[in-house]
Amino acid sequence: MPLVVQKFGGSSVATAERIMRAARRAINARQAGSQVIVVVSARGDTTDELIELAKEITDRPPAREMDMLLATGEQISIALMAMAIQTLGEKAISFTGAQIGIVTDSYHTKARIKNISTQRMRQALDEGKIVIVAGFQGIDEDYNITTLGRGGSDTTAVALAAVMKHRGQETGGRGQEAAGRNQGAGGRGQGSGVGCEIYTDVDGVYTTDPRIVPEARKLDAISYDEMLELASVGAGVMHSRSIEFAKKFDVPLQVRSSFTDTEGTWIVPESEWMHDVPVCGAAIVKDEARVGIVGVPDQPGISHRIFSAIAQENIAVDMIAQNVGSGGKASIGFTVTKTELPNTLAVVRPLAVSLGASVEHAEEVSKVSIVGTGMRTHTGVAERMFAALAGAGVNMKMITTGDIKISVLVDKADGVKALRSVHQTFQLDKPRAGAGLPVGATPAAVPARAPAVLDDNGRDLAAITQQLSSMEEIVVSDVQLSTDQGSITVFDLPDETGNCSKVFQAVAAGGIIVDTIVQNLAGPGRAQLSFSVPQADLDRALQLTCAVAQNFDPAAQVLADANIARLFVLGIGMRTHTGVARRMFGALAERGINIRMINTSEVRVSVVVDQPRGEEALAALKAAFNVR
Ligand code: ADP
Ligand code: ASP
Ligand code: MG
Repeated sequence: MPLVVQKFGGSSVATAERIMRAARRAINARQAGSQVIVVVSARGDTTDELIELAKEITDRPPAREMDMLLATGEQISIALMAMAIQTLGEKAISFTGAQIGIVTDSYHTKARIKNISTQRMRQALDEGKIVIVAGFQGIDEDYNITTLGRGGSDTTAVALAAVMKHRGQETGGRGQEAAGRNQGAGGRGQGSGVGCEIYTDVDGVYTTDPRIVPEARKLDAISYDEMLELASVGAGVMHSRSIEFAKKFDVPLQVRSSFTDTEGTWIVPESEWMHDVPVCGAAIVKDEARVGIVGVPDQPGISHRIFSAIAQENIAVDMIAQNVGSGGKASIGFTVTKTELPNTLAVVRPLAVSLGASVEHAEEVSKVSIVGTGMRTHTGVAERMFAALAGAGVNMKMITTGDIKISVLVDKADGVKALRSVHQTFQLDKPRAGAGLPVGATPAAVPARAPAVLDDNGRDLAAITQQLSSMEEIVVSDVQLSTDQGSITVFDLPDETGNCSKVFQAVAAGGIIVDTIVQNLAGPGRAQLSFSVPQADLDRALQLTCAVAQNFDPAAQVLADANIARLFVLGIGMRTHTGVARRMFGALAERGINIRMINTSEVRVSVVVDQPRGEEALAALKAAFNVR
């Protein structure tokens, strides 16, 4: 029998009437012949209210007790939902995370799932019951209640779908695994597979948050990687870790409205047509904080010391921009969410003192990002983004790139203006294949795009089963080395609106394709910009860049370096797993390999090292991540 996991977010269970509506939806699915698991969040603003309540007692509530408190929000919802379904005449039973064995690590308030037992759910489902599970919560090995981080109910829902898909036949108390050849859910949740529906207060994933940019458009479908990047750069519609699960375990998701029956957005494997446009969406994180460590010795092992100390506190570093050193000193800039700033400063300040460096920080900053798998094939995307920002009078404080995303840090006051301008530049407000129709348009004008149909043939089911026993472990799929590019660095670029944009316009006008870009503030009023271009274009890129830089400042120094090796570590959840950068920098530090540039994203972390050390660095990283 097919199985569907339906997740209802806070606003979808905020009132008795909405709970009844959600209950009817679950019953409809049950009566249409599916087994149904319902995952619910805390009602309305309950979680926020509980946090406020804690603050009335203390400024720094102990994390363990915070989890004990926050988990109550979801417990209210499951009981009410079970009552609603039973009142409507169907069988239902509610469970907390602990009761169905959602076992997590012990990082309170941001725990990760280690394993889920399916036995109790299976039994209730086989008895014909609708199973209702509290989202966002689990239990650690010492029976402490844990929570998965804000928005974590999405992750509970997808994790349950994943485990039921691959281990759903498990019976008895001995954890017998019968991960047989379960067929995929088919593109649209049909057949005997497992589907996952995320019901929320918007009718799908939009090109950007429609509450901030009303001209945003609903997408028909988006790939796992795109959604992973978008969620990790601020699209709060999905918890990014839920997409990690969806991708890792091939769970097709649909995000849709709990208030209407309109088709939502499919989050599915990548399809060819998704490359038609360079950018599929944009997002903003309004409350970021930037930390700069200026004047660190340009030596092997320094990044490792800094980022491993931060990772030790389980703080996820967001953008990292380390520039090419000069005069034996380098500067490292990174961002964390504003709430993590005090803890981060507490870690880096003493470290900076011991390195003879200084720490600066800025709180009123926002991060604006664009995402699209089409960036892999379309050129000039960064240049277009920077030109849009320059045109809107927005100065960029930091730039980092991934293969399918570009992020810039701007003044908080400019954040929304910046988001709107890039949204418009990439015509995300216009009808196009794959994106929703304008109100009143005829569907024939822009055909809807069907999601890819999943196919489990050829999937390594043994590997999947193994992954299920450590569900949220980091997965690194590949490590790659590229020596076909050289880098250009502009030192002491005056930190003014439009300067970067002019550099990239000049380089693009020469027909040169720019790849990795890192820009970082490198002292008061000065920025350092580095980017890579194909070796064959290096000299020309240097000339073009020099010509522009001299217009800003006749003494500007521009350097070309043909001797670089770029290393890429590819996987899922690369940024949010705090250990990845630590392991990566650690492996290089151990061998005394100096890191010259760093770039991070959710699906790829890249570093630049001296070319003669490239092969050795490749071997070190492969060993560190167990990749053959
Ligand atoms: P739930 O409580 O159902 O989990 P959330 O508030 O977590 O709901 O997520 C839904 C909200 O996400 C929307 O109301 C919208 O404002 C916001 N959002 C941010 N980015 C996007 C996007 N790209 N597409 C749709 N909604 C978005
Ligand atoms: N109730 C939790 C929160 O508000 C989890 C969730 O809604 O997904 O963050
Ligand atoms: Mg949510």
